[in-house]
Parts: sequence; C-alpha cells; structure tokens
Amino acid sequence: MILVTGGAGYIGSHVVLALQAAGFGVLVLDNLSHGHREFVPPEILQTMDLEDRAGLARLFAEHPIEAVVHMAAFIEVGESVRKPDVYYRNNVYGTLCLLEAMVAAEVRALVFSSTCAIYGEPQALPLTEEHPQHPLSPYGAGKMTVERILGDFDAAYALRSVAFRYFNAAGAHPEVRIGEDHRPESHLIPLVLDAAMGRRSLITIFGEDYSTPDGTCVRDYIHVCDLADSHVLGVKYLLGGGASNAFNLGNGNGFSVREVIETVERVSGRQVTIQVGARRPGDPAVLVGSSARARQLLGWTPRFDSLETIVSTAWDWHQYRFE
Ligand code: UDP
Repeated sequence: MILVTGGAGYIGSHVVLALQAAGFGVLVLDNLSHGHREFVPPEILQTMDLEDRAGLARLFAEHPIEAVVHMAAFIEVGESVRKPDVYYRNNVYGTLCLLEAMVAAEVRALVFSSTCAIYGEPQALPLTEEHPQHPLSPYGAGKMTVERILGDFDAAYALRSVAFRYFNAAGAHPEVRIGEDHRPESHLIPLVLDAAMGRRSLITIFGEDYSTPDGTCVRDYIHVCDLADSHVLGVKYLLGGGASNAFNLGNGNGFSVREVIETVERVSGRQVTIQVGARRPGDPAVLVGSSARARQLLGWTPRFDSLETIVSTAWDWHQYRFE
C-alpha cells in the first residue's frame, strides 16, 4: 500500500488515480485545507494533519504502507514571501513529522514533490538537476531544505527518496472529473480560461519586455497526467531498490504567456481581452527544464506534451466546473 499525502489536491488526486491504475493500494492523507474531498474516494481518505504525530504513528501501525508519496504542501510562491513562518512550518516541519513517523515505522521509501523554484534565476538553460540552487522565495527555500533533509535521512537511516522537481503543472485528467481548482486562482492557464469564459474581464500579462521571442515569460508546462505517471515510476524505482535521486519533470518545451493565451483562444473558440502590466517580482524570463535523467533512469516519457492537449484538457475541466 502507498500512502499519498496531499492526495486530495490537484496533482495528488491525479497521482492517486495513476497508482491505482498501476495496481497499487492507496491511502490518502489530507487535512483538506486546500484539497478537495470530492477528488478522492471516501474509503481511502484519512483527514489528518502532518503535525498530528500520534495520528501518523497510528496510520503507519494500522496499514501495511510500503512507500510514501509526499505531496502535501502550500504552493503559493507570493504568499510564501508574505508568510514565511506559515510556509516553513507546513512544508518543512510537516515533512519532518512525516519522516520521523516513517523511520519509526521502518518505511524507507519516499517520493517527494519538489520544484524548479529551488534553482532561482537560471544561469544556463535548459535547467539540469546539477544547476546551482538559489531559490528566490521561502517556498523554494523550504523545498530545497527538505531535499537536504532527505539526503541526511538517507545517510543516517537508509530512508531512500526520489525528489521530483516539477516545472509548471497544467491540464487535467481527460476522463475523470478532477483538475486544477485553487482558491484564489493565481496560475496562468486557469486564469486565461476564466477570461475566455467571461468569468473575468481580462488577463494581465506580467511584463512583455523580457528577452524572449515575443517579450513575455517562457515556462515549461507539463501535463498533470504525465507528472502522475512519473510518480508511479518513482515508487517502483524505490521499491526495486533504486538509490536516492532528484529528477526534473518538465516537457522540455517552453511556451510564452502569449502562446498560452493564443492556444486558449484557439481551443475555446473565444476571444480573450489582454492587458499588459508590470513584471511580477521574482519571475525569471525563461524556465525550461531538462528531464533527461527521468527519461533515462525511470523510463519516463510524457504523453501529453503539446500545449494544445494541455490546454484542451484544462478547458474541458474548466467548462465542467463552471458552465
Ligand atoms: N502570468 C501572467 N499573468 C497572470 C498570471 C501569470 O502573465 O495573471 C505569467 C507569469 O508571470 C509567469 C507565467 O504566467 O511567467 C506562469 O505563471 P504561473 O503563476 O502560472 O506559474 P509560475 O511560473 O509562477 O509557477
């Protein structure tokens, strides 16, 4: 059985489905602070906080957990700048509670949701796992700290881990009714979909004076089902005795903010009103990753790597939710 923390979240719920499809039994731990109860079958959901040490110990005692996929975390970069205490407590201390419970229960395999935000301003592109780490926010610094803790736990307690450094997760499951639903929403694709649907009057482009082909920021959007597949491979890799490692997960193609908006217009058949605003502090011009290591060591291949597919699955989900 695999324990998935944060399994009621956007990426987590896709990971739960992928693990189940691969034949794993799954138990979800989620405090539902941001997760969605309806994204998870009730019989596998444990509503619990990571800081509930006694509850965690009980969970590991009562279930035959072989490995943990740890996705529970706060994810807003800007919010982390305003509330570093909240972010370090939830994302770092919460992880420590989980790791202590794992060591006590002798569960020594962990897949961890990390982020490309640990790299900071790129010095070379595409970003590889060896790129220096200079995170620009408490969110990124917290994830980097957890990766460091994981290395120390491997050395001290033989707890092996895979850290997946996500680029921009996007899209939704093509058949099951789950998808991105952050409140308030701050991510580009759902915001542009909102504008296409008339749920907001316009989309603001955060700067068009970057040194990119069209002047807007370029990001590496990766379909959430492709992310989910990699977690199944990560679990199998660890259960098969694989050594601790960190892997970038991006699709290797960068798309600009303008390309995203144009794709939404094409897919939805609706026009989006655009306003050009100031740059958002802390936004690098280009963030594109190399996922060569995940492809080679895990055999991972993204299936939904066109922006068209990413946006059209997101559009289907958006319509289902709001129309
Ligand atoms: N962005 C934008 N307008 C918005 C929201 C985002 O121009 O209303 C840009 C943002 O500056 C970044 C890209 O879209 O270059 C992706 O932003 P998002 O917040 O989705 O993800 P991030 O890259 O911050 O993880």
